[in-house]
Amino acid sequence: MILSSKVALVTGAAGGIGRDIALALAREGAAVAVADIADDAAARTVAEIEAAGARAIAVHMDVTDPALVDAGVAATVEKLGGLDVLVSNAGVQHIAAVTELAYEDWQRIVRIHLDGAFLTSRAAMRAMRAQGRGGAVILMGSVHSKLASPLKAPYVAAKHGLLGLARVIAKEGAADGIRSNVICPGFVRTPLVDRQIPEQARELGISEEDVIANVMLKDTVDGEFTTLDDVARTAVFLAGFPTNALTGQSLVVSHGWYME
Ligand code: NAD
Repeated sequence: MILSSKVALVTGAAGGIGRDIALALAREGAAVAVADIADDAAARTVAEIEAAGARAIAVHMDVTDPALVDAGVAATVEKLGGLDVLVSNAGVQHIAAVTELAYEDWQRIVRIHLDGAFLTSRAAMRAMRAQGRGGAVILMGSVHSKLASPLKAPYVAAKHGLLGLARVIAKEGAADGIRSNVICPGFVRTPLVDRQIPEQARELGISEEDVIANVMLKDTVDGEFTTLDDVARTAVFLAGFPTNALTGQSLVVSHGWYME
């Protein structure tokens, strides 16, 4: 187990990709703080981790609220004995053309993805620096950190911004052994994606099957969705990588949809 005696905090870990990352980190020996706004679902993730024999706590955290973020990181350090791995994963999507997009929706999406990554990274870096044993800051980007699709302006802009944030954290964190990297998944069948399929079909005037085959998976090498397990394995790899050799990078996990 490559993460035994490590402590991880995963945001958006009540469901979707974050839940699978939390479970995978726990399988590798980490104690895990499950941070989310969805308290009941977060409690279920905690119960799953505990049933598998690992330690976990639920942390009520809206990643756009600085006080809740700082309190959640402090509670993690206090109850689980430190913080070695942050996975800033919480996220939402909103489908609309730029000309139809309400400013409030732009702000909401950017705040969750970009402000949330900043606030959680800041709190995690402070805790990691104070305990003096380095750490890994992992930001959940997307293929949309690398390229654009119509109807997703705030999401694409925020996901691009995460690459810059990770590079700055890599430079500022190096002296303390804090590494920062971005995971960039292709489409994964989670509630976030399932909600988009009918929305995109409506907006683009095509069938749901066409959204999957000709919008979401068109440019993959094999027409396959990326899986929860694919992304969780990547998070485990980045969480366990022991040196500053791998920092400031982004790893695209997308069935070749985007190739560096
Ligand atoms: P999801 O909707 O299944 O889960 C998102 C989780 O985030 C939920 O548990 C939700 O309660 C939580 N959340 C939402 N707003 C929050 C907030 N303000 N504070 C704390 N928690 C909050 O979504 P997912 O598909 O698992 O996406 C997770 C991350 O992966 C997102 O950053 C998303 O952009 C990214 N991503 C997803 C895909 C995909 O295809 N599903 C692809 C690339 C990147």
